[in-house]
Amino acid sequence: MNERRPTLAVWKFASCDGCQLSLLDCEDELLAVADRVAISYFPEATSTMVEGPYDVSLVEGSITTAHDADRIVEIRRQSGLLVTIGACATAGGIQALRNFADVQDYMSVVYARPDHISTLATSTPIADHVAVDFELRGCPISKRQLVEVISAFLAGRRPVTPAHSVCMECKQGGTVCVMVAHGTPCLGPVTHAGCGAICPAYDRGCYGCFGPMETPNAPALSRKLEQLGMTREAIRRVYRTFNAEAPAFRDESKRYDP
Ligand code: SF4
Ligand code: SF4
Repeated sequence: MNERRPTLAVWKFASCDGCQLSLLDCEDELLAVADRVAISYFPEATSTMVEGPYDVSLVEGSITTAHDADRIVEIRRQSGLLVTIGACATAGGIQALRNFADVQDYMSVVYARPDHISTLATSTPIADHVAVDFELRGCPISKRQLVEVISAFLAGRRPVTPAHSVCMECKQGGTVCVMVAHGTPCLGPVTHAGCGAICPAYDRGCYGCFGPMETPNAPALSRKLEQLGMTREAIRRVYRTFNAEAPAFRDESKRYDP
């Protein structure tokens, strides 16, 4: 008897496609997953598109247009489980910098014909619009964590992804702390683990691409950054990158507004 395989759909909103590429980059793991699920909608990988509903939807990107705000509601309706992947989908992405400014000002600088652009004034995470079953962080996401999330949902359990900070990964990997040893500013103490502390392993500070950890103490880190000689503007900027709209980073950056 043929067992029905769960269906998987992959959706794109405002984003660079890097997280979808991480999924394609899974190669061997993806082949194993493809054996267990029917990849029914994934335009980046195949022109074959099967109509929904879908058992699991992976959603990349943020909501930046009225059309996308409607589209995500329809995708939620068609999806059993909805998992957001990456900094854009979970925290609005780099495009959320518009939330701190006037989007009309950006449009007049970037586009020769801004009158042709139809956009919202903000970039917001998917969870601001519909219920989300799980958020996978990173810019881009870790393919190891992505395989864990897909495997977990196939097995009917919660994914096991750490809620602690990048600092823990430095300790686990035996990496010397760049902030303590060299006074290099590092967002690791407030940043979600998942990358394996790549940047400190190469003698660089973490710049927070996985977004805030579960219980970040950003004011304590900011005091340390002040002690290291960073200006108020520089501190504001370290929190305003890929995850600028994540509440912990957004609120801390606002404390350093002029
Ligand atoms: S290098 Fe950064 S992430 Fe690693 S332990 Fe030090 S502060 Fe934490
Ligand atoms: S160390 Fe920080 S900036 Fe570097 S990859 Fe990891 S989370 Fe991203």
